[in-house]
Amino acid sequence: STTNAQWQARKDQAIAIGEANLAPIYIEKGKNALLWDVEGNRYVDFASGIAVTNTGHSHPRIVAAVKEQVERFSHTCVMVTPYNSAVVLAEKLNELAPGNSPKKSMFVTTGAEAVENAIKIARAHTRRRAVIAFNGGYHGRTNFTLGLTGKNAPYKTLFGPFPADIYRAPFPIPYHGVTEEQSIEALHNLFNCDITPEEVAAIIIEPVQGEGGFYPASNSFLKALREICTEHGIVMIADEIQTGFGRTGKLFASEHADIEPDLITVAKGMAGGFPIAAVIGKTEIMDAASAGGLGGTYAGSPISCAAALAVLDIIEDEKLVARSHQIGIVFSTHLKELQKQYPDLIGEVRADRGAMIALELVKNGDPSQPNSELLGALIKEALNNGLILLKCGIRNNVVRFLPPLTIEDEVVEEGLNLFKKSFESVAK
Ligand code: PMP
Repeated sequence: STTNAQWQARKDQAIAIGEANLAPIYIEKGKNALLWDVEGNRYVDFASGIAVTNTGHSHPRIVAAVKEQVERFSHTCVMVTPYNSAVVLAEKLNELAPGNSPKKSMFVTTGAEAVENAIKIARAHTRRRAVIAFNGGYHGRTNFTLGLTGKNAPYKTLFGPFPADIYRAPFPIPYHGVTEEQSIEALHNLFNCDITPEEVAAIIIEPVQGEGGFYPASNSFLKALREICTEHGIVMIADEIQTGFGRTGKLFASEHADIEPDLITVAKGMAGGFPIAAVIGKTEIMDAASAGGLGGTYAGSPISCAAALAVLDIIEDEKLVARSHQIGIVFSTHLKELQKQYPDLIGEVRADRGAMIALELVKNGDPSQPNSELLGALIKEALNNGLILLKCGIRNNVVRFLPPLTIEDEVVEEGLNLFKKSFESVAK
């Protein structure tokens, strides 16, 4: 096989329909913010493998760290005979996580597992059962995390029943008429009508809602949530799996609101593409689970630990947190220009959380008329023009931009020009 179409045909025969792909292109090579497919076509990558390659494709320092590790050993299991890279990585995460409380970490392999473990830890600590999540939240595809996930199609369709003791409140989204006050009131209603706060183990929130549509929670809302959790002894979990490691213009998005969550879940950007995830949290909560109660065969793989340590060095040495903020400003300027040209189609530009940027597409400038047809056409057209874009949103009408934080200025320009050109050719 030599063409994308041939590989797609083979994929359709070999891999289950459920594991569908956005773009029928087969990647041969990547370099920082660029990708090349099997036909030799070149693409600007504004997806970063869903916020994973924040440090670009095949960063030489990550490649070197991983090679060095693989040559020494690739696996022993951190629960059997550990290695010092896991310890050093945990020490660094404990140090870097927001807030001054003493912290510990534990490692797993995927984001969903990190969320599962955060819930286990919160339940062990509080001896309570209930968990509150938000509409539009996304926390993973395992059974408990799917239960938490607040978006039906395609994630939950056909996969019930889901676990009990999960409650949901509306995520505050001013653009859709949901105010902070309404969200807080809904929480109080849950406490009054459905579950007493004394039975709630945890409230889990994405500081910037990701798959649900790139909606930032306001600083005041996160602060209010922090207070409610403190008042009732509820564990506040910030799911920073998509927002962590510089993506939002801070190392962790919780820093925007100047709050210290009790537990933080991280994955994705942590190791530039090598599978590793963690729960980082306050020591007295993290230590609630008994010895041997947490873990996994591949938890904190030495290869991923080596990659993660390289990623942290790169973020610091290449000043990627500041760079993320800068990228957000450049996107914001260009996208707001485009919005002026197409006020009926571009309902909102969300670009004040670093390089976690979105456009919400509507009809007639009306927030309640999502334009998912335009989104579909736009993603296709962009791909034809050599630009990889992602979508999100519970209404399936949000373009999201997640460029690597190491992207060069020229490639940002090139990608934005490709985006404008694609938008202009599909906008009617
Ligand atoms: N939480 C959030 C906020 C996410 O964005 C994701 C992945 N999109 C997950 C959890 C699940 O992570 P994973 O796919 O690694 O299981």
